[in-house]
Amino acid sequence: MAFLTHFPIAPIHHQTQTLFTRFILSPKPKPLLIFASLSSPQPATSHFSSTPSSSLEPLQDISTTEQPTLQIAKEKLFIPPETEICSEKPPRILKGSNIVLSKYARDAQVISAEFVKSSVETEACPSDGSPEFALVGRSNVGKSSLLNSIVKRKKLALTSKKPGKTQCINHFRINDSWYLVDLPGYGYASAPNELRKDWNKFTRDYFLNRSTLVSVFLLIDASIPAKKIDLEYASWLGQNQVPMTIIFTKCDKRKKKKNGGKHPEENVQDFQDLISEYFEAVPPWIMTSSVTNQGRDEILLHMSQLRNYWLKH
Ligand code: GDP
Repeated sequence: MAFLTHFPIAPIHHQTQTLFTRFILSPKPKPLLIFASLSSPQPATSHFSSTPSSSLEPLQDISTTEQPTLQIAKEKLFIPPETEICSEKPPRILKGSNIVLSKYARDAQVISAEFVKSSVETEACPSDGSPEFALVGRSNVGKSSLLNSIVKRKKLALTSKKPGKTQCINHFRINDSWYLVDLPGYGYASAPNELRKDWNKFTRDYFLNRSTLVSVFLLIDASIPAKKIDLEYASWLGQNQVPMTIIFTKCDKRKKKKNGGKHPEENVQDFQDLISEYFEAVPPWIMTSSVTNQGRDEILLHMSQLRNYWLKH
């Protein structure tokens, strides 16, 4: 794909330590095959408690699965810092993802969620210093549905869809301690080219200058083949060293479309193969569905370990 050639491999991150610094700097290890599930999660309660805890205890009971598994080479896992993998102690991998759990993963339950504000520039965003995660994706990728599923509210994300707010940075405060941020969708089919590229101008400053941004969650529709604009977006984030987690949406849509349509697992694999050309290492990814709630608890656990590490460093 010619358009990929002018995106260089993501350069090494020289700033202060982040979860991704070590990830990117890690030398590529000899591939070691590890089993990880790509299937739907069991009803998630086992590894969450209903109240937030200040304990640093690692989670003891990560749910396992009897369902079909996918082999993931060790070099394709996201291994958080301060997490060792050795043959005596197999890693605990979040279901339907390539993410290894670290000691920083703790209670992740959403107790409260409230819309805080819409901002049109980074400087106007909340300034209390709480960590945040930004959700972004092509229009119709399922961003609002995922946001509602994460916070277990049917209509919270509607707030961002109100007139005047679709092109804003919308902050939702979770558990009165961190933020989920809804960014404008990109790639509207009916919009002229000028407008389609607008994300670059509007959100670029946010991505590059928002110091409390822990990770961008880039949503990719797994029910269809990779789109050029999504690959470009992922590449831009990598090129600019913006930490990114890929959230594959609509993984419940299993019906193959005609003309070589593929299952979500195949699209997920294809997308990773395509971005591997311009990333030194595979970013963390999670398969989700807002219909079955697949991946919801995995997202929250991943956010908790990123957040807790970020707060400590
Ligand atoms: P947004 O434009 O990115 O906010 O997307 P929406 O959340 O509004 O969803 C767009 C369409 O995709 C709607 O018709 C949703 O019902 C549908 N959708 C969203 N998430 C899922 C999913 O996980 N599975 C399926 N099957 N459909 C979904």
